[in-house]
Amino acid sequence: MVEKVKTMNDDRLLSELTLGAINEEATRAHIVHGDNSMMGFKYSASDRLSILMEEVGEVAREINDARLGRRPADKDKLVIELIQVAAMAATWVEFLDGVIPNLG
Ligand SMILES: [Mg+2]
Repeated sequence: MVEKVKTMNDDRLLSELTLGAINEEATRAHIVHGDNSMMGFKYSASDRLSILMEEVGEVAREINDARLGRRPADKDKLVIELIQVAAMAATWVEFLDGVIPNLG
């Protein structure tokens, strides 16, 4: 568990580590998929929801596999998939807000 260090000027709830991981994943996905990423202009809202739900399904798969295998869910897998869920959701927001990625 990442311990949040809180300062007087920082009342944000999410750690820089988590926010950074979400940003890295969104950037990675955009570099890999280009115009076919969630930042592209090809997708309808239904398409975007399908992509987001695919990632949510991968979280569910790990939880289900763990339950069926009578083992704890793999924390690292859950973190990866949950970061992907967050990245897809955040990227959708950025698309709606008209933010264009600056990939240098
Ligand atoms: Mg995934």
